[in-house]
Amino acid sequence: MTTVVIGAGIIGTAIAHHLQRRGHEVVMVDRAGPGQGASFGNMASIAVTEFMPASRPSVWRQIPGWMLDPEGPVRVRPASMPRLVPWFLRFIAASRPAKLRALEAEGAALCARALGDTLALLAECGASDQISDEGCLSLYADEAEFRADRDHIEILERFGFAHEVLGRQAIKALEPELSDKIGMAVLFPQNRSIKDPYGLVLTLVSRFKALGGQVEAGEVVGFGESGGRHQVMLKGGRILLADQVVICAGAHSGHLSRMLGEPIPLETERGYHTQIMAPGLSMKHSIIWPARAFMVTPTAGGIRVGGTVEMAGLEAAPDYRRSKITVRRAQEALPNLRCENFTEWMGHRPALPDTVPILSPSSKRKGIFYATGHGHLGLTYAATTAKVMGALMTGAKPELDVHPYRINRF
Ligand SMILES: Cc1cc2nc3c(=O)[nH]c(=O)nc-3n(C[C@H](O)[C@H](O)[C@H](O)COP(=O)(O)OP(=O)(O)OC[C@H]3O[C@@H](n4cnc5c(N)ncnc54)[C@H](O)[C@@H]3O)c2cc1C
Repeated sequence: MTTVVIGAGIIGTAIAHHLQRRGHEVVMVDRAGPGQGASFGNMASIAVTEFMPASRPSVWRQIPGWMLDPEGPVRVRPASMPRLVPWFLRFIAASRPAKLRALEAEGAALCARALGDTLALLAECGASDQISDEGCLSLYADEAEFRADRDHIEILERFGFAHEVLGRQAIKALEPELSDKIGMAVLFPQNRSIKDPYGLVLTLVSRFKALGGQVEAGEVVGFGESGGRHQVMLKGGRILLADQVVICAGAHSGHLSRMLGEPIPLETERGYHTQIMAPGLSMKHSIIWPARAFMVTPTAGGIRVGGTVEMAGLEAAPDYRRSKITVRRAQEALPNLRCENFTEWMGHRPALPDTVPILSPSSKRKGIFYATGHGHLGLTYAATTAKVMGALMTGAKPELDVHPYRINRF
C-alpha cells in the first residue's frame, strides 16, 4: 500500500510517521521543505484547554470593536472583507447555542487525548525531553477580568480539565518575573509546551526516514487516476502514484480540495511571533493574558511572544507592527522583558469557521483523505490526528467518533 502525504507540517509528518511505522510505504511531499509552514513558528503550546469555539458570543460580540481598533487582537484587512463574507456567515451560524454545545464537546474529545497522545509520540521518537514539565498560567489583572473569562473556566470544569485558581503570592512564587499588576491567575498544568516546534517536525521527519519513509520536494498542482490508482501531479511534470492520498497542506489545503472537486470553507488566520534570544529574564511556565490577547512561551534559545489574528488571505505581505504590539503588551506582564536579538515571523493558521478540524475520508473519491483545518491547535492535535487518520486509513475503528470531523459537514 503506497500512501502519499501532501504537506510536511506537524500534521503531515505525524501522520506519515504513524503510517510508515505501521507498514505503509509512505511518500511525503512538500513544496517548501518540512516544517516551514505554520508548524515552524507556533506558540509551542499543547493547549488542551483552548478548544472553545471562537464563535462563542463572548468572543464574537467583541469582534466589531476589535476591527475598529488597529491594535486590537483581531484585524481584518479591508481588501479581504468581500471574500471573507461567506466564511463569517458560517462562523456566525456556528454560534447557535446548541451548535456551540456540540462544538465544545467535539473539541474537548480531541483535547482530552492530546497530551497523552503527544507524550506517547515523543516517547516513540526518543524525544521525551522536547516537552516542558510546567503548564500555562492564564493571567488576570483583577476579579473583573477573571469574571469576564468565567465562561471559559466553566466549560473546562464541565469537561473535567485540570486547573487551579491562584492569588498574587502563589503567582509570584511560580513566576517571580510577573508584574504586581497581575492579581489572579489560573494554572493549567496540562498545557505543557514543546521546546522547539520546528525541531519537533525535523525529529519526526528523521524518524520517518529511518523507518524507510521517503520525502519528496515538489508542489502538488493536480490530481488524476490511472489503472485504479491515484496520480499526484507535481509542478514540472513529475507524477507520484498512490493507493491512498492524504491532504494535510495546512492553510493551502482548500486549494487542493477544490482541485479534487470538494471545496471546504478554509481561511487563513494569520498569526505572528517574536522570538527573543536575549529577553533579560527566564520563565518556566508559558503565560497567556486573555484580556490583552498575547501569549509568551519559554522555548529553546529564549522566549517567544505571539498571538493575535489577522484575516488578510494567503498572499498579503506580513505587517510586523502586529508583533511589536504583542511584545509591548507582554512587557506589561513582564516588566523586565527586553526585546533584543530577536526575529519576527508570520504564519497561516488553517481555520475553519466552526473551529474543529476535518479528519475524514473524502465524501467523493475512494482513497482520498483530509486532515486539515486545525486552526489554533494544530500542534496540540497532531498526535491524536495521526492516530485517528491512521485508523481511518487502515480500515480500523478510530478510538473516538469521527462523524463531527467529516468533510461534508458544511
Ligand atoms: C502565531 C501562531 C501561533 C500558534 N500557536 C499554537 C500553539 O501554541 N499550539 C497549537 O497547537 N497550535 C498553534 N498554532 C497553530 C498551528 O501552528 C497550526 O495549526 C499547525 O501548524 C498546522 O499544521 P499543518 O501541518 O496543518 O500546516 P503547516 O505547518 O502550514 O504545513 C503545511 C505544509 O503544506 C505544504 N504545502 C502547501 N501547499 C502545498 C502544495 N500544493 N504542494 C506541496 N506542499 C504544499 C507547505 O509547504 C507546508 O509545509 C499557532 C499558529 C500560529 C500562526
